[in-house]
Amino acid sequence: MAASCMAASELLHNIKLIHFVRRTSSSRLHFSSQLLQAQRDPQQLVGVVGLEIHAQISSNTKLFSGSSVQFLAPPNSLVSFFDASLPGTLPVLNRRCVEAAVMTGLALNCTINRRSLFDRKHYFYADLPAGYQITQQRRPVAVDGMLTYSVLGGKKRNQVIRKNVHIKQIQLEQDSGKSLHDDVHSQTLIDLNRAGVGLMELVMEPDMSCGEEAAAAVRELQLILQALGTCQGNMSEGQLRVDANVSVHKPGEPLGIRTEVKNINSIRYLARAIDFEIQRQTDVVQRGGTVQNETRAYDSKSGETVAMRDKEGLQDYRFMPEPNLPPLIVFEDNASLPAGIDACQAVVVQTIKEGLPELPSIKRDRLVQLYGILPEHSFTLVNEDGLMEYFEEVMKSTKREPRKVIGWVTNELLGLLKQQELSVSQSPVVPAALAELLELQEAGHISSSVSKQVFQEMWRSPGRTAAQIIREQDLGLVSDAAELHRICQKVVDSHPEEVCAIRSGNKKVLNKLMGLVQKETKGRADPVLVREILEEKTS
Ligand code: ADP
Ligand code: MG
Repeated sequence: MAASCMAASELLHNIKLIHFVRRTSSSRLHFSSQLLQAQRDPQQLVGVVGLEIHAQISSNTKLFSGSSVQFLAPPNSLVSFFDASLPGTLPVLNRRCVEAAVMTGLALNCTINRRSLFDRKHYFYADLPAGYQITQQRRPVAVDGMLTYSVLGGKKRNQVIRKNVHIKQIQLEQDSGKSLHDDVHSQTLIDLNRAGVGLMELVMEPDMSCGEEAAAAVRELQLILQALGTCQGNMSEGQLRVDANVSVHKPGEPLGIRTEVKNINSIRYLARAIDFEIQRQTDVVQRGGTVQNETRAYDSKSGETVAMRDKEGLQDYRFMPEPNLPPLIVFEDNASLPAGIDACQAVVVQTIKEGLPELPSIKRDRLVQLYGILPEHSFTLVNEDGLMEYFEEVMKSTKREPRKVIGWVTNELLGLLKQQELSVSQSPVVPAALAELLELQEAGHISSSVSKQVFQEMWRSPGRTAAQIIREQDLGLVSDAAELHRICQKVVDSHPEEVCAIRSGNKKVLNKLMGLVQKETKGRADPVLVREILEEKTS
């Protein structure tokens, strides 16, 4: 019941979101220009953003128990005695979770601590039965890394600009359970399925300055985690949870007081929440006020952040070493394994390094090399889920140049998908169908303007092939010379001024006549032939 209510409200959200999307892009542009202005004017306030990210580790079992990890399972069906904190139960560290954290640390250029420690962080909350969370406070598994991400800049937003954000640390810790609020019976029930699932907490330095940068950094991180297989990275399912720390200051001056924005469940909302918060704080400071150090929640309906509670900055978590877990030791390479420890029982950094998969940045470079496409196109191909696979599928069944195909995929296809809020896998036009259309154009059966028309038609009525549509609507290229002569003559006769201009040397006007001929033929005239005929008639 509760779940279906949630689904319905989600749906409503999504409908409202369509309006947001439009607004976001314009507010983002507005914001970037503010930032540029600030760089020129040191008195202007600029935003400072640092993210704290919790990534749920993809593992079969929890961090310290053998319970399964699943997203959808009946409440409290995945709870061992340890997860429920029964006295006398002990943690057993899951090697897969350690390997995931090490792998993620390596992919983010971190130093892997050969020895790290577990601590207890105490707080009282109904979804934390032990009264403390096991985390890594004194010495985390990975430190001092760097994430390189890109944003699109330049006037046309087609320049790939690389940026870096420092990773302070990656620590292993337990997830908590979930409180389910039942408004009907006004009660709260606890589901401990998530209690004890392994998390990697990634702490980033405050190196970013606006929502767009934070969104791009999180998208890159998401792609990296997915490539590594260490986290599925789905924000709406809570596998990737991002808290944004935001402040404003004048460049060159110390950082301002920050707020922490929570409850952000999509990358789009992250950008919006941050930009809203920067603007709000800027207004506060400009009015002579001070920003409160507080936790705020993002309300996606209003697009605003609202105060949740004072920051529990002064709260004492009573950190203490976890007495039931020895220091976590990882080994540099097989040679450094002590006698009696088998390589398959230990975590060996070198082995994990050698097994690192291709990361998104390398994939983008490879696409540029392989297909001769532009960097901004490879950026889009990799960043949009499933788009690269779609493009490569089309490439398999067409002889058209990659540079031509890429335009179709990143403009026509992606444009319609975005307009209708569809994912690539939901595209009504499958790669083979697009390839067939491109082949028909390549073979000279249709003009390029007609091919766009046919694409729209294929989109509207999936299942009908390009060839069918061309036949049914008689869209094939007209290359009957006599017919084209007749049409060209008609156009020339009815546009004496244009003809005069062409004759007196203004050859550009010929394009206007060509357009008129195409209008007559609904874009079906063979452009090469038309040009020849018109040139002859206006010479
Ligand atoms: P704490 O120990 O209070 O949690 P940290 O130093 O660990 O503080 O920082 C927590 C997060 O807040 C980090 O992601 C960091 O980048 C970010 N952060 C710290 N100071 C600021 C600031 N002035 N503005 C924006 N973000 C900040
Ligand atoms: Mg912190």
